[in-house]
Amino acid sequence: MKENDHFCEDPPAWKEYDELTGLYTQEAFYKHLGELLEEKKQGDYYLLYVDIERFKLLNDLYGMAEGDRLLRWIGECIGRDCKKKGGIGCRIRADNFVLCAPYEEKELRYALWLTHNELKKYPINFEIVLNIGIYKIVDRTVPLSLMCDRALMAANTIKGNALAYYAYYQDNMRENLLREQEMVRDMRIALEKKQFEIYAQPKFNHANGYLVGLEALVRWNHPEKGIISPGYFIPVFEHNNFIQEVDRYVWENACRMIHEWIQMGKCPIPMSVNVSRINLYNPYLCEIFENLCDMYRIDKKLLPLEITESAFIEDTEIIADAVRRLRKAGFSILLDDFGSGFSSFHILKDLDFDQIKIDMKFLMGDYSHGKGKVILESIVKMAEALDISVIAEGVETKEQADFLLGIGCPYIQGYYYSRPLPQMKLEKMLDEYLRDGRVQFGEASIENSGTGMDSFCPADYEAVLSRLPGAAALYLVGDRVITLNINEKALDLTGYSMLEYDSAVRDDVLGIVYKRDAQLLWNRINHSIKEHTLINTSFRIVRKGGGIVWVTVWADLVGIYQGKPVFLAMFDISAEETNLVSMMEHARKYRYSLNSEAVSSAEIDLTGNRVITADGADLYNINESEQVSYSRYIQSIAVWVHPEEKEEFLTALNKETLLKSYYRGERLIKNEYQLLHHSKKQYVYVRMSIYFVPNMVNGHVYMDIFVHDITEQKKKELDLMAKAETDPLTGIYNRGAVEQKVNCLLEESKEDPEVKNVLFMIDVDDFKIINDTMGHRRGDQALIEIGRKLRRLFRKSDICGRMGGDEFVVFMTGVTCREIIVNKARQICEALQFTTGDVKADDASVSCSIGAAISPDDGQSFEDLFEKADQALYRAKRQGKNRYVIYGD
Ligand code: C2E
Ligand code: CA
Ligand code: CA
Repeated sequence: MKENDHFCEDPPAWKEYDELTGLYTQEAFYKHLGELLEEKKQGDYYLLYVDIERFKLLNDLYGMAEGDRLLRWIGECIGRDCKKKGGIGCRIRADNFVLCAPYEEKELRYALWLTHNELKKYPINFEIVLNIGIYKIVDRTVPLSLMCDRALMAANTIKGNALAYYAYYQDNMRENLLREQEMVRDMRIALEKKQFEIYAQPKFNHANGYLVGLEALVRWNHPEKGIISPGYFIPVFEHNNFIQEVDRYVWENACRMIHEWIQMGKCPIPMSVNVSRINLYNPYLCEIFENLCDMYRIDKKLLPLEITESAFIEDTEIIADAVRRLRKAGFSILLDDFGSGFSSFHILKDLDFDQIKIDMKFLMGDYSHGKGKVILESIVKMAEALDISVIAEGVETKEQADFLLGIGCPYIQGYYYSRPLPQMKLEKMLDEYLRDGRVQFGEASIENSGTGMDSFCPADYEAVLSRLPGAAALYLVGDRVITLNINEKALDLTGYSMLEYDSAVRDDVLGIVYKRDAQLLWNRINHSIKEHTLINTSFRIVRKGGGIVWVTVWADLVGIYQGKPVFLAMFDISAEETNLVSMMEHARKYRYSLNSEAVSSAEIDLTGNRVITADGADLYNINESEQVSYSRYIQSIAVWVHPEEKEEFLTALNKETLLKSYYRGERLIKNEYQLLHHSKKQYVYVRMSIYFVPNMVNGHVYMDIFVHDITEQKKKELDLMAKAETDPLTGIYNRGAVEQKVNCLLEESKEDPEVKNVLFMIDVDDFKIINDTMGHRRGDQALIEIGRKLRRLFRKSDICGRMGGDEFVVFMTGVTCREIIVNKARQICEALQFTTGDVKADDASVSCSIGAAISPDDGQSFEDLFEKADQALYRAKRQGKNRYVIYGD
């Protein structure tokens, strides 16, 4: 009946059927859909938007005819299923279909699954993936086109997501989209204005409550929106690659924090950082981390790297290689979110990790018995067998923590112990834990990297103690004296065996001091910490079994352990004066052994203005007679100091200045200078460390001076500064450097208004398509190639830089006529039209559009020129890409 009506009307201006697939056209679809929904008031109707992933690529690779064949095939599949259900379908545009049919929820999922599998049968060597967005029609008054838009929106959310092939439309998607756009708009400014803040969440050993490490977690402190959680912005930044920059920012700040703790004499605690998947494609990733550790002089074990399991879904080889390299370089690798994906076990088979992290959230609810328990237990057991440590995160309750401890997983992270904390709160917490000595580093113990930091491990003391008479390394926590290490002779003195000592004395040495002497001894210790003097006193101890003996102790502050001063104490039963001298001699030897890599050292009697011993003839050529008085000694070294630093050097090493420092309470001074190396005949960077040592015999202030050659380290720092100007991917300048350099050059050229400069802005055409269809690695290759080509095309004095993403600029100075600019623009266009890729069938063709602006006519600052060039570029894009436009033309 209806059909007949049609014949009476004018024939529609559009075609009813799509010629290629035989499905409805868009217009016909809307018309029939309206009728269908009008007619069938019952049943749950679903609108499905179907998009073929990477269809353009398939077209490019296999030709249009093959592309058409696929469309027809998919059209058939879809049409058939749809008809069976009493629905209708259309090809809405190019490679997009829309269908509508009534389904039961379960049935729909099954149908989707079937289609997904059906695709694998299509005879072509190309993985066909559909993105399907689903809109459930609840309110039938919603305009049909809006329904389609919503289904499309849902389809877009899973573009490029290897884990999902369909998604339901949700009301918040539109908001999310808007919010996403806002984030993209604000993100660069956020980075510049330091709106990203580093929080850290501590990790604990639930067996003893000790703190075992930290994880850096980023927050966005937005000026209007307040603190934004990474759950919102990280996925967006992962999508547009900005995560690379945010991650680097977080890593560097994590390193800086650790560095600061070391500088303050605190015991550094490992802080893991998250590494997004995209970073693992960066061929320089390992160097970036190594440089950071070098620059901030921290041990690599202090910076474990967390890589989420889902990173291993695609391109496993490239990613696996990156992980192997990092691990080989000495970084600890932690497999994050273990068990969240489907590839967990397969990754463990192929790669070595130092730790796996299980998220309690995956096992929410019924974790402590039934299947959840079995799974958790097995993971822990398996990890143990593979010699990988396990940590659980998201632990919110005592029950969870106890349960985990019970199955052999004491390491936990979660709100139960602490939320992620901002730096101030974190440091307060760390201080408390350090003060109480409740800190432990599991496998990742700190190593002294030989950089002159006075932080040592118990093992360091062991070797030293073995060479001394009765001696112990002790440190203070609260009102207790704790043993770091004790040698046998000292142990003999107490009468305890090592085992007994460990359980009865180690953590409270004052416990074996005769009661009436204990307070006195404690006062002495505090006095010497305050006055920086040696401890030299006698007291009684109660030996095992009750015997009392008098001992004499000499103790000197030699280092810092877990933020606490460490004393080297020597004990003897007889109190003779000669022991004082030998004690000082030992402490001195100890300082020397700590500075064994020094290129020069000297022992000075500062009060007496006398050089006692000095070496380092290799470094500066000084003769014997000059070594007698301290002042002359310093004068003769000053000859070798860089002229610009000489005055500073002489002031810093002046006898009176030093004495003042000593009486102010300083014990160690470190300075850096450039010295002309006598035998190398070139300038070297040195660090000079001065230890003040009061001489208990004659009351003079002595000092030990050690000079370390830090040229290598310094070079790396300078190198890193250069790197701070370069874009890690392409090796040309980054945005910041370009801005600064261009503005400098513009300032200079203001003097001669005749001289023109030009700013070219270059943008890759359809770069998103390359990235989406060929993967980020191919996209990166194209960018690297562009950087290389630009550098070749321009003079050294011109500034080439990458502004981020696929945007490049070149600034050319001293241009005399317009022809040159036009010529250059054409050359760039030609040079940047190329194909990239290593397999013929898999290469991407690249082209670029260019906008140019000229100073002084179009502007006198980088910002002005950039804006004008951007407008010109926009016009070039609108005119059809792969061309140039000069502003004002
Ligand atoms: P993640 O690496 O798995 O980090 C653990 C997340 O669990 C953190 O969320 C943390 O605050 C949260 N969490 C910790 N304990 C508990 C608990 O007891 N209960 C619950 N419900 N949650 C807990 P946050 O900080 O919101 O970070 C979310 C994700 O964002 C991180 O997951 C990580 O994938 C990503 N992320 C955070 N910072 C960075 C970063 O600097 N770089 C990169 N690439 N990703 C980051
Ligand atoms: Ca993590
Ligand atoms: Ca995690």
